[in-house]
Amino acid sequence: MTELTNWINGQHVKSGSGRFSDVFNPATGEVQAKTPLSSVEELNEAVAKAKEAQVAWGNTNPQRRARVMMAFGALINKHMDELAELVAREHGKTLPDAKGDVQRGLEVVEVCMGAPSLLKGEFTDDGGPGIDLYSMRQPLGVVAGITPFNFPAMIPLWKMAPALSCGNAMILKPSERVPSTALRLAELLQEAGLPDGVLQVVNGDKSVVDAILDNEDVAAVGFVGSTPIAQYIYGRAANNGKRAQCFGGAKNHMIIMPDADLDKAADALVGAGYGAAGERCMAISVAVPVGKETADGLIERLIPRVEKLKVGPYTSGDDVDYGPVITAAAKSRIEGLVDSGVNQGAKLVIDGRGFEMQGYENGFFVGPSLFDNVTPDMDIYKEEIFGPVLSTVRADTYEDALNLVIDNPYGNGTAIYTADGDTARDFAHRVNVGMVGINFPIPVPLSYHTFGGWKKSAFGDLNQYGPDAFRFYTKTKTVTARWFSGIKEGGEFNFKAMD
Ligand code: NAD
Repeated sequence: MTELTNWINGQHVKSGSGRFSDVFNPATGEVQAKTPLSSVEELNEAVAKAKEAQVAWGNTNPQRRARVMMAFGALINKHMDELAELVAREHGKTLPDAKGDVQRGLEVVEVCMGAPSLLKGEFTDDGGPGIDLYSMRQPLGVVAGITPFNFPAMIPLWKMAPALSCGNAMILKPSERVPSTALRLAELLQEAGLPDGVLQVVNGDKSVVDAILDNEDVAAVGFVGSTPIAQYIYGRAANNGKRAQCFGGAKNHMIIMPDADLDKAADALVGAGYGAAGERCMAISVAVPVGKETADGLIERLIPRVEKLKVGPYTSGDDVDYGPVITAAAKSRIEGLVDSGVNQGAKLVIDGRGFEMQGYENGFFVGPSLFDNVTPDMDIYKEEIFGPVLSTVRADTYEDALNLVIDNPYGNGTAIYTADGDTARDFAHRVNVGMVGINFPIPVPLSYHTFGGWKKSAFGDLNQYGPDAFRFYTKTKTVTARWFSGIKEGGEFNFKAMD
C-alpha cells in the first residue's frame, strides 16, 4: 500500500498526523494508496515556510517567473502520457479524457507564459501640475487553492499557474481522492525552476481546509467543488478578511429548438451528458426539447446512441466511452437518485442501474440512464446527480424553456441548439448563466477568456483563469507623485515663477 506524502519545501514529506483517507482504483474497487490527512500544525508550518519563500519569489521579475511557466509547460507536454495515466488510475476517466484534463490545464499555463503583459500597470502623465499617477499589480502573499476530485490535473493547474506567475506562494489542497497528479505537478514545477517552498501541497480534509481559512497569513482562497462547501468556504474566508472565489456545483440545461438538427443535438447530448460518467461541472444533465415533435424526435435519436455507449476501465484504451464513478458511495447515491426518479413518476427510458462490468465486478461502474417526462419538482431535476444520467424536461414554448433555465438555482453552463440566429442571440442575452453554448454543448471558454458560473455555481468575485485570474491574485496599488521641476509655466503650483 502506497503511503502518499505532502510536498513541503521542495521535498516529499510524510505526514505525522496518523490519519489517512483511502485512494481507490475506481475500476477495480481496490484501495491503491492512502492520502495523509495532515494536521493543523502541519498546515500552519507549511504556510509559515511559504510566507518566507514568497518574499524572494514576489521580488523576482515577472519575465523570469514566466520562464518557469515556459519550462513547466514543456515538462507537462513531455510527461503528458504519464500524467494522463496518473489521472485515469485514481479518477477512473478514459485515457483520451485524462489527456484532455491535462491539456486544458496546460493551456492555462501557456497563458501564464505571457504574465508580464497581463501584470503591466497603468500610467497617467500630467494628471495635475507636475503630477503623474501610476498603478501597479502586486502579489497578495500566500494564497490557497482547494480543488475537487473530478479534474485532478486541470483544476490544480488553473489555480497554481496564475497564482504563482503573479508572484504569490501557494498552498494547494487537492482532493483527497486524487492527490497524486498534484504531487507530480509539484515535482515538475521544481524541475522547471520554481524555488522550494513557493508551492506547498498539503493533503487533508475539512480540518486542514478550516486551518487554511483561519490562518492569518493566507491572503486569498480559490476553491472549486460542490455548492454547499463553496458557500461555507466563501463565508468563513470572507469573515476572516480573505479574498475568496468559490466555484460550486451545476445543473446545466440544453434547449433544443424545433428547427435544430436533431441528429447533431443528440450526438452532442450523449457526449455532454455521459462523457466522464457525467462527473463534469459543465456536463449537460437536462435536455429541454421545445414542442412534442422535437421531444419525440430527440428521444427516438437518443435511445440507440445511449444504448451503444461502452463503459469500461481506462486500461481498455480508446474503445471506451466512459469509466467508473469515483467511489462506491457515489455509485449508490446516483442509483438512489434514479430510483427516486422512477418513484416520483418520471419515465425511465434506459435503466443504467445494477450495471456490472465483467472482470471488474467490484468497480464503481454505473450504466447510462435516460429519463423522459421529468418535471422540476422531482429530485432528479433538483439535485446535481454528477453521474451518467440525462433527464428530459419537455417544454411547450421557447419562453417556457428559457424560464426553466432562468429559474434554476444553478448558473454554471447552458446551451441552445437552433438554426435561428435571433433565438440564439435572445437566449445568450437573457439567460442568467455564466457560460453559454450556441450549437455547442460544453461551452468551457478557452484559457485566455475566463471560466465562472452565476447564481449558486459561484460565490465571490472574478472568474478563474484568463485576465480575471491576474486580477484575483494581485492587489492594485496606485501612486500619485508630484515632481516640482515638472510644473509648467502657469501651473497651479508654479514655484519657479515665485523665485
Ligand atoms: P467537494 O465539495 O466534496 O470537495 C471539494 C474540496 O473540498 C476537496 O478538496 C475536499 O477535500 C474539500 N471538502 C470537502 N468537504 C469539506 C468540508 N466539509 N469542509 C471543508 N472542505 C471540504 O467536491 P467534489 O466531490 O470533490 O467535486 C465535485 C463537485 O465539484 C461537483 O459539485 C462539481 O459540480 C463541482 N465542480 C465545480 C466546478 C466549477 O468550476 N464550478 C468545477 C469542477 C467541479
